[in-house]
Amino acid sequence: MTAAPRAACIIGWPVEHSRSPLIHNYWLKTYGIAGEYRREAVPPERFAAFAGSLVARGYVGANVTVPNKEAALGCSLPDEVASAVGAANTLWLDGGFLQSTNTDVEGFLNNLDACAPGWDRALGQDAGQNVVVVGAGGAARAVIYGLLTRDANRITVVNRTPDRAAALRARFGERVGIAPFEALDELLGEAALLVNTTTLGMAGHPELAVDVGRLPGHAVVADLVYVPLKTALLSAAQGRGLATADGLGMLLHQAVRGFALWFGRMPEVTAELRAVVEADLASSAA
Ligand code: NAP
Repeated sequence: MTAAPRAACIIGWPVEHSRSPLIHNYWLKTYGIAGEYRREAVPPERFAAFAGSLVARGYVGANVTVPNKEAALGCSLPDEVASAVGAANTLWLDGGFLQSTNTDVEGFLNNLDACAPGWDRALGQDAGQNVVVVGAGGAARAVIYGLLTRDANRITVVNRTPDRAAALRARFGERVGIAPFEALDELLGEAALLVNTTTLGMAGHPELAVDVGRLPGHAVVADLVYVPLKTALLSAAQGRGLATADGLGMLLHQAVRGFALWFGRMPEVTAELRAVVEADLASSAA
């Protein structure tokens, strides 16, 4: 007997811009799995009811994007990662219960591992190795949690709104320091890794003004923004010969576990998949 096709979706508001359907439907086709991945536009006030009716709607699970990631935590059984980050982006049904996790953490780490192998080697050993995280929103929480799991012992958060950076220090402890934007250039001299988790550099937003010339030659630069694919920050870092990790790589890597949970096969992030999404981003920008 053939199993019924499975379906998953991305729940967001808005959700039209999401590339997750492109990624998951590419994998379904590539692996010959009968299934479907759809978009579901769900406003925050209807999110809890929607998440509670996933099975009735024929879904085995879902991704959750802005602005519902915090709400997703509240209406599911979160794992350790989602609880620590305070947000969930992946839901699945197990034993009749809605479970959740946050795959932005592994998306960020696995992308860095792929783009800059060994990037984390010195983070836990050398107190002089600082990580500078720009931004203190939801994405920064996932990044900082991930960095702490790789034993980073000095992370400095630079954010426009100081209270949000202070909240991250309160959440994650004394390995996280905070500094004002004005201190950013000075901090770079000791930074082994610089991560942009803000919307700065995104199409239609101002650039992140930072002098990458101050970074040490072994530093790695990561940007979570993927529209445009190559931000001014990444261009400048590459111009200096530094290793970089872009937002599209993180997006692709964060999708892996959801697919495995819903469709029963661990998918691969390949150059071909990346090219498919890059072409789609380019056609939207044209
Ligand atoms: P968020 O919670 O709204 O946080 C936005 C951050 O950007 C805050 O730190 C905010 O500072 C800062 N910011 C916005 N405008 C600014 C400006 N003009 N000057 C200085 N700082 C500014 O958003 P998020 O969910 O963390 O997402 C942040 C970015 O990460 C987005 O570009 C998103 O697309 C990207 N992201 C990418 C992936 C991926 O897989 N590649 C995954 C998740 C997120 P304040 O606190 O001062 O407002």
